[in-house]
Amino acid sequence: MRYKYLFIFVLFLSSVGCHFNCDSCDGEGEIECSYCEQEGTLECEPCEGEGEINCPECDGEEEIECSECDGDGETRCRECYGSGEKNDYDYDTGSYRDMECDECDGDGEIECDECDGDGETTCRDCNYGKIECQDCSGEGRIECEDCEGEGTNVCEDCNGEG
Ligand SMILES: [Zn+2]
Ligand SMILES: [Zn+2]
Ligand SMILES: [Zn+2]
Ligand SMILES: [Zn+2]
Ligand SMILES: [Zn+2]
Ligand SMILES: [Zn+2]
Repeated sequence: MRYKYLFIFVLFLSSVGCHFNCDSCDGEGEIECSYCEQEGTLECEPCEGEGEINCPECDGEEEIECSECDGDGETRCRECYGSGEKNDYDYDTGSYRDMECDECDGDGEIECDECDGDGETTCRDCNYGKIECQDCSGEGRIECEDCEGEGTNVCEDCNGEG
């Protein structure tokens, strides 16, 4: 019975009394994460910490080419199907004949309704040319993978024992 207690006492000594601090971690069992410099987070690369990136749809321009007129600012006149003429009743001669289309003044094209002739419309996919960065959910920073956001890593030299 007494030997058993002695054995436990020796175990106790060896685990505490003869213990030397690990040089690498100074006995802490953990070391500073050099990857994130202990911040636990890193600047998000795709958005450079801004939390938002240029809209891929309009390339940050806020405007995109009008899909209605393909950027021309004009669309084919629906009245004359682009011919500029319309078969209509001529009161002067009292008969039907091809007359200049009054919708497009004979141009065959009318100003695009969608973009008011600009050829561009405001991009609906973004906020002033920017969208939230998916990588960081708009935070601008991401969790450090090295230390999983802890800022410290388990000391490998002592396996965290100190
Ligand atoms: Zn250590
Ligand atoms: Zn880290
Ligand atoms: Zn956009
Ligand atoms: Zn248009
Ligand atoms: Zn017309
Ligand atoms: Zn980001």
